[in-house]
Amino acid sequence: MHCPFCSATDTKVIDSRLVAEGHQVRRRRECTECHERFTTFEGAELVMPRVIKRDGTRQPFDEEKLQAGMLRAVEKRPVSMDEIEQALSKIKSTLRATGEREVPSEMIGNLMMEQLMNLDKVAYIRFASVYRAFEDVSEFGEAIAKLQK
Ligand SMILES: [Zn+2]
Repeated sequence: MHCPFCSATDTKVIDSRLVAEGHQVRRRRECTECHERFTTFEGAELVMPRVIKRDGTRQPFDEEKLQAGMLRAVEKRPVSMDEIEQALSKIKSTLRATGEREVPSEMIGNLMMEQLMNLDKVAYIRFASVYRAFEDVSEFGEAIAKLQK
């Protein structure tokens, strides 16, 4: 692993711990040349199912898009990066656990809403309103009703 600061090839691990419920190892590394420190995440590369869009087209699973959506929903909310990472990792393991090669995009949206509902109610409403706006306006009301229970 090259140092991202000076590109030296020799870095040493100074701390190592399991994250994402044991699915990832987070390592603190230090460059032996410039002594800068950085973090790496290691995890098994498991194949994610492809996504079936509403119009029937297929797309590769896009983790960055998922994370971007989640970050947008929790903007200025008291939600930590750790909590976001955990939520994303739960969504991914649920998708893998289906054993399907393709899953509908609605399924991912619903998993995302489940996670947001646990994390932060405001973030949940934000996401639900945007995500469902194009489907059925009445569902936004349902989302609020669920919160009031
Ligand atoms: Zn370096």
